[in-house]
Amino acid sequence: MSTRTAVIIGGGVIGLSTAYHLARKNYGKVILLDKGPVGDGASSRAGGIITDLMWSETGVRARVKSLQLYRELSLDLEGYKFQDVGCLNFFEKASYPDREKLFPIYRKLDVPFEVLDAKEMHRRWPALQAPAEIIGVHDPLGGYSEPDEYIPAITRKIKALGVEVREHQQIQDFVLRGGQVRGVVTAQGAIEADAVVSTVHAWTLPVLGELGLSYPIKTFVHQRYVTKPLPAPVKLPAVNANPMGGYVRPATGNRLLVGVETAEREEHRVTAKDWHMSDLTVPAGLKEELYERFVELVPVLAQTSWETEKVGLIMFSMDGEPILGPVAQYPGLFVGTAFHSGGFAYNPVAGMLLAEFVAEGKTSIDVSDFSPERFTSQETQAHLERTLAQKDSIRRRH
Ligand SMILES: Cc1cc2nc3c(=O)[nH]c(=O)nc-3n(C[C@H](O)[C@H](O)[C@H](O)COP(=O)(O)OP(=O)(O)OC[C@H]3O[C@@H](n4cnc5c(N)ncnc54)[C@H](O)[C@@H]3O)c2cc1C
Repeated sequence: MSTRTAVIIGGGVIGLSTAYHLARKNYGKVILLDKGPVGDGASSRAGGIITDLMWSETGVRARVKSLQLYRELSLDLEGYKFQDVGCLNFFEKASYPDREKLFPIYRKLDVPFEVLDAKEMHRRWPALQAPAEIIGVHDPLGGYSEPDEYIPAITRKIKALGVEVREHQQIQDFVLRGGQVRGVVTAQGAIEADAVVSTVHAWTLPVLGELGLSYPIKTFVHQRYVTKPLPAPVKLPAVNANPMGGYVRPATGNRLLVGVETAEREEHRVTAKDWHMSDLTVPAGLKEELYERFVELVPVLAQTSWETEKVGLIMFSMDGEPILGPVAQYPGLFVGTAFHSGGFAYNPVAGMLLAEFVAEGKTSIDVSDFSPERFTSQETQAHLERTLAQKDSIRRRH
């Protein structure tokens, strides 16, 4: 039995998945800490949509693995099932050529996709009335996960695998020895560790700021709504309706989930370690506007109304790719953050990769494009000094 200890800071889906993979590898003692209950950040607020039709080769390779792992997790996690309804990505005439340029990557990696016109989309999914000019790129392997099923199921599993899940314990600082990170400090005291993995998402700057680390990242408010139940299930894929500024998918209990971005809204900076996402609010009238935007696309929405609203933060790095890997300046420290609006989709593979870095020092997929070391301190500082609205940041969906 290994005597190593790993501490994971943050019990969102990225931290939970890292704990799962470390436990599966029999790494040793694995402790996962969250300042609230698990899932208290963006993860419980997510839409849970996943596609592997990404915009970079590394992204596609990683997501193909995520989709494979999601299917395996459906068998391994009691009470959880990946919803393999497919994922349909919408483009307009202006945005389609950029996506078309990525088709050679999809073909090279054997990732299935189909290009569909509005008529064909309506034939396959009669509930969907896409405007005639919309082009759909269909990912038959995509789909979604319900956060309310997935988070409790993976938490139960990691506990059964021996992971210590310590809730309501906020990391205040790090244990540093000989220039290496050797643990964390909470109000309850110090915890010594061979490896510390930071998966604190929106809190990355205040938490890693304790070590003088910073990254060129921006956080934006994002919201999603679920309807009251409809009389019958609605047959739909998960639809990334980017031209409409949002997305729609079926949800548990004959419901629909619709998410929407607020493109004009300025970034929301998190500066305090004890900040909570329940402090976020949504502009007045957004719910009504959202309904107007989506009722033409999915007319059955007219038969119901919104039941729940969830608001959280999504985070984009300067180049739009995740930040994942070891931190060169501090041996023993690893970071996984900035998964744009696709952290739920990334979590199975992100946890696998972080666990590989921690346990083996190398990964089974080359993710050097995601390296935390890829930004210079000058560009990081310049990026952080600017205040951006979401429309001026890189916008990438799921
Ligand atoms: C409305 C909305 C819809 C979304 N829809 C989708 C979607 O359809 N598909 C998709 O793939 N992604 C989606 N996302 C994005 C996705 O939710 C995130 O990318 C993902 O949940 C990030 O997971 P995480 O584990 O990194 O972060 P989080 O879930 O935020 O977890 C971080 C955890 O760290 C804890 N923490 C912070 N500071 C400390 C500290 N000092 N000590 C201890 N613990 C600490 C927090 O309490 C929190 O629980 C959506 C996001 C939002 C807000």
